[in-house]
Amino acid sequence: MSYDLIVIGGGHAGCEAALAGARMGVKTALITIRKDRIAQMSCNPAVGGLAKGQLVREIDAIGGEIGYCTDMTGIQFRILNRSKGPAVWSHRAQVDRIAYRKYMGITIHKQPGLTVIEDEVVDLLIDQRVCCGVVTVSRETFEAKTIIVTSGTFLNGVIHIGENQIPAGRIGEEPSKGLSECLVGHGLEMGRLKTGTPPRLNGTTINFDKCTVQYGDEPPPFFSRRSNRQAINQIQCHLTYTNSKTHQIINDNIKRSALYSGNIKGVGPRYCPSIEDKVVRFADKERHQLFLEPEGLNTSEYYLNGFSSSLPEEIQVEAVRTIPGLEEVKINQPAYAIEYDFFPPHQLKPTMESKYIKNLYLAGQVNGTSGYEEAAAQGLMASINAVLNIRGENPVVFDRSQAYIGVLIDDLVTKSTAEPYRMFTSRAEYRLFLREDNAEDRLSETGRRIGLLSESLIEKIFSEKKQRTDIYSEFQKLRISVPELEEPLTVAEAARRPEVDFTSIFNSLPNTMTAKYAVIEKVLIEIKYEGYLRRQQLQLQRFKSMESLAIPASFDYKEIKGLKTEASEKLSRIKPATLGQASRISGVSPGDIAVLMVNLKNRRRK
Ligand SMILES: Cc1cc2nc3c(=O)[nH]c(=O)nc-3n(C[C@H](O)[C@H](O)[C@H](O)COP(=O)(O)OP(=O)(O)OC[C@H]3O[C@@H](n4cnc5c(N)ncnc54)[C@H](O)[C@@H]3O)c2cc1C
Repeated sequence: MSYDLIVIGGGHAGCEAALAGARMGVKTALITIRKDRIAQMSCNPAVGGLAKGQLVREIDAIGGEIGYCTDMTGIQFRILNRSKGPAVWSHRAQVDRIAYRKYMGITIHKQPGLTVIEDEVVDLLIDQRVCCGVVTVSRETFEAKTIIVTSGTFLNGVIHIGENQIPAGRIGEEPSKGLSECLVGHGLEMGRLKTGTPPRLNGTTINFDKCTVQYGDEPPPFFSRRSNRQAINQIQCHLTYTNSKTHQIINDNIKRSALYSGNIKGVGPRYCPSIEDKVVRFADKERHQLFLEPEGLNTSEYYLNGFSSSLPEEIQVEAVRTIPGLEEVKINQPAYAIEYDFFPPHQLKPTMESKYIKNLYLAGQVNGTSGYEEAAAQGLMASINAVLNIRGENPVVFDRSQAYIGVLIDDLVTKSTAEPYRMFTSRAEYRLFLREDNAEDRLSETGRRIGLLSESLIEKIFSEKKQRTDIYSEFQKLRISVPELEEPLTVAEAARRPEVDFTSIFNSLPNTMTAKYAVIEKVLIEIKYEGYLRRQQLQLQRFKSMESLAIPASFDYKEIKGLKTEASEKLSRIKPATLGQASRISGVSPGDIAVLMVNLKNRRRK
């Protein structure tokens, strides 16, 4: 049996990869261990959040699925960071875990050109550094022109709950064996990481009266332009806090936590610490915030966000019951930590293809990232580039000024990672350009060109763009009075004033203005930022000129006189694709870049 593209693993990276491949017209197979676990959310039933929301909007703008699937199965929608500038506003949705899995599963099964195979890949067919197929545990061989590995936390996964260690890819599922050994056998460097998940609680045993309610935004802010869902009744989340009693129990039993007993060797996520880590590292904090998040509409199960742990189950019960509202709570599933193999991502090209094994791509948690959104973004890009590789066309690589996806992949392949990597707005130096509201302006043309966006959708995007241009011109002339200002000003002038709220502007607009709030808001954001963006242009031009200086893959840094040894070693290891990428490698100084630039220019002249 032979395919153009085989995707290994039906997680969040794998779903995007498989759908994109089939939608771009290549014969695609998704091989995954369990069909009924396609798009399973291993951790929290939520999508988006700070910087992650931007990733989802970008995936949607290119033609990916995660945003739409979230909109269809979401049970609470909010925009975070509203108190800050619109550049860092981020969508976040609580989703129904089972509904999400079903919806994505149906989308995958119904996709023409995509075959789903329930099996486990245990080996890759690699001939002279070219990957050309896979072998499964049931001893089937499948040939393929390109292969994407998206095995998540499954490679030699081990779960830790207190002193107990259970081999697993996640709770209740066997780990995957064979792939790690195969890749290491072909010379790839491998590492070990750790992540954790909090307990799931029985909601009928929670006293919500003692907790603070958190409502969704109205109307629900959806991620995707495609979403046609009508108004929904959004559910409530709740807030509660740990206290000194909780901390005491955790401290008294800290040695029984797998994290502190020495059982866990893998590096954990610095930005998403376990409750043990929070209590130990931030000992001066009197309490830690916890969110009670419903797992779905047809279940009473709750996810205790902020309480991931590897303490023994009985200690978890004792500690959780000190928390207001949880005094009599029953735990349905204890918190656990998991260790798994990953492949440091400096071994990838910016296309997500392995530098050492041709036609083999890696995407998602297997590259050391953490999070559904980061995984989905990589799966989409790996697949796009695998298909373009098959077609013999130029790859799609977004730079850091074009997309958070560009920042994510550039960080991974340039700086690699030794701990679970997650996206933050602070990682993007051009974040004023990379807003959720302009994701389509930045990326949809690419989605159309490669065949992922339908013509009807593109038409809608372009027609809205035209509408925004008209509104923009009108706002330069139209004068309004808003409560924050004494004098009437044009809408454009008012939008630039920091003290003026967009809602005041919206309320002052004439009734004849029929455009949707979201469209008007986009224009106001554009106006608000245009001055800053003009000022950043020079910096951007400098960045772009460095990015356009390509470095040949065969470049021998050891031969260049004037490069410091550290720089020469790091450049040889990372093999940057451009001078810009070289400049972001730690240990490579501006002096080294100057030497490199002269050398590259001399070569070109020759
Ligand atoms: C315990 C735990 C806690 C987490 N905590 C957080 C958190 O706090 N914050 C956060 O953002 N993210 C967290 N995550 C991570 C989040 O779940 C992942 O980042 C995300 O699911 C990664 O997506 P993925 O597609 O790379 O892999 P996964 O979602 O893990 O999917 C991998 C898929 O590959 C399949 N597979 C694996 N090996 C093979 C094989 N050899 N052959 C065929 N199929 C295979 C599996 O069956 C699975 O379907 C956590 C994950 C776990 C397990």
